[in-house]
Amino acid sequence: MSKTRHKKIRLATAWLGGCSGCHMSFLDLDERLLDLTEAAELVYSPLADIKELPEGIDVILVEGAVANTDHLKLAEQIRSRSKIVVSFGDCAATGNVTSLRNRLDVEDLLATVYQEGPGKISQQDELLPLLLPKVLPLHQVIPVNVFIPGCPPDPERIWAAVTALLEGRPVVLSEKMRRFG
Ligand code: SF4
Repeated sequence: MSKTRHKKIRLATAWLGGCSGCHMSFLDLDERLLDLTEAAELVYSPLADIKELPEGIDVILVEGAVANTDHLKLAEQIRSRSKIVVSFGDCAATGNVTSLRNRLDVEDLLATVYQEGPGKISQQDELLPLLLPKVLPLHQVIPVNVFIPGCPPDPERIWAAVTALLEGRPVVLSEKMRRFG
């Protein structure tokens, strides 16, 4: 990664309906994370436990599909506050594992799990975000600029994409790095 840049890129990551495996793979960049800190400032991420999404994000990696109303609201905020939105991993790109429930009716699902089981949670519970009728990939909710496929994306393809983005180059992934799964 070029070290001649003076102004740090405002980098963020977000976690919607995913298992956090994509974020774990990001951490597997290992010592390359130190290089990353020279070029970028992490301004929002579950890894940094920053609660409020700031304005003026340059690049944001978004893990997970859009499964509930909280995800929907955050996705819309992400789009309005970020220059480059990256669909990070297969759940964000296609729905993947998170969308397995799409064949089921939401009310039937909640009744089976939480009414007929020991817990008592309903779609009317004000403390919980409402589940959307269908889980959606991120690009069906907001415009997305870049896709990094993989479940999870391996560190090499994350690094290839992130370094290109931080250096202002187009993201060109090899055929192997464009595979899902
Ligand atoms: Fe987890 Fe795979 Fe989805 Fe990433 S793409 S959130 S690793 S299930």
